[in-house]
Amino acid sequence: MNKYRIDLLSVGADPVKYEFALDNQYFKDIDGPEIQKGNVKAIVEVSRKHSSFVLKFKFEGSIVVACDRCLDDMDLPVSVESELKVRFGNEYRDDDEWIIVPEEEGYVDTAWFMYEFIALSIPIQHVHEEGQCNKEMMEKLNEHRSSFTDDDFAEDEVDEPTGEATDPRWNELKKILNK
Ligand SMILES: [Zn+2]
Repeated sequence: MNKYRIDLLSVGADPVKYEFALDNQYFKDIDGPEIQKGNVKAIVEVSRKHSSFVLKFKFEGSIVVACDRCLDDMDLPVSVESELKVRFGNEYRDDDEWIIVPEEEGYVDTAWFMYEFIALSIPIQHVHEEGQCNKEMMEKLNEHRSSFTDDDFAEDEVDEPTGEATDPRWNELKKILNK
C-alpha cells in the first residue's frame, strides 16, 4: 500500500497535487468493515508552512455498501472533501487535530485516512430505492424472522432497522443467510 504515501520532504513553498485511483483492489487491501468495493478518484493538495502541512482531500466516485433493508450490495455515490493536518515531531502520533510524523521518515501514509474519510461520508440510513431490494434476500429474511423466537429478533425491532450497518444482529443474520 506504499503507493498512498505522500512524501512531505519534497513539498516546498508551492502546493503539490497528488491523484489516487481508489479501485476495488484498494478497498480489498484496506479490508474495512463498511465498504467492499468502489471506484473513487482522490485528489490531494498538499501545502506546507514551515514544518506543518495541510492535506486537502477531494473524493468523487462511487462505492458498494450493504443495503440496510435487504443486506445486498448497493451503489452509493461519493462526493466529499476532507482535511488532514500533519506536522513533524519526534515520534508518530495521531491526536484529534494533528498527525505527527518523525521528520527523518518524512512521509505520511494516507491509505487508511482516505478510507476513513469516505466511510464517514456514508449516510446512516442507506437503502435501495423502493422496489429495488433483492427479493430473494427479503424472503429469506422474512422466513427467518417468522421462525425466530429470540427476543433479540422481535419483529418490531427487525422491521425498523436502526440504520447502523454494523448492528451485530444483522451481521449474525447475514452469516446465517450465507450458509
Ligand atoms: Zn436493499
